[in-house]
Parts: sequence; structure tokens; C-alpha cells
Amino acid sequence: MDPQKYWRQIPARYRLEAYKCKNCGKVFFPKRLICDNCKSREFVKAEHSDKGKLLTYTVIRTGPADFQDQTPYVIGVVESENGARLTAQIADVEPENVAIGMKLRMAFRKINKTGDAGVIMYGYKAVPEFE
Ligand SMILES: [Zn+2]
Repeated sequence: MDPQKYWRQIPARYRLEAYKCKNCGKVFFPKRLICDNCKSREFVKAEHSDKGKLLTYTVIRTGPADFQDQTPYVIGVVESENGARLTAQIADVEPENVAIGMKLRMAFRKINKTGDAGVIMYGYKAVPEFE
């Protein structure tokens, strides 16, 4: 992701803002313009739970250049407790130990370094939640 785009997305990414459809109550993250359930265009900010479970995942063995030093790594779709879904890297667990349905929580982590300037990007990753 280019740095310009990255910085524009910071407020939503860092606060994990979710939006709830005023009409049908479906929760989205990130924000959508139109609810894909009822076509409403009215949303309200919703609490975004930082806990959820893994719906599906894929192991990346050949990553984009910026992520090549991290392979293999896991990208998964996490469904939070309020129903919002988001795609995140699954960190702190070996790919062979990742399982659909596992409990996760969102944690603030280094994402990658970009380019020769070595700018470090931070964002949320999902990590296993132990009870
Ligand atoms: Zn709706």
C-alpha cells in the first residue's frame, strides 16, 4: 500500500471504527457507502469489538515485495463479536497451528517497513486469544 493511502486510512484503522446500518443493523468494517443487505445509505458509528473468531484464512508463501521477509504468513477473515468482518494478518501463531473458529483479538503491531527509507507501518493484526 502506498504511504499516502495508508495515512488517509489511519483514523479508521487505528480506532477500528465500525459502522452499523441504521435500517437493518448490519455492521461493517471498514465503512461502506451502501449497505449490501438492504441498500440503505445511512450508518451510525458502532462499537467495534476487538475480539472475534477466524472464519477463513490463507497462508501466503510468496508475498508482495514489502512482505517477502515475513513469509510464510497467514491472512484471515476475522468476524468480531458484533458481526463485523475484517481481513487481517494472523500473527503470533505458526501457520500450521491456525484453525478456523479459533478465538482472536486485535492487537497493534508493526505491519512492515516500506522502501529504502525504512518507514515502519503500524496497524492491527489478529493474534490468538487465550482464556
Ligand atoms: Zn442495511
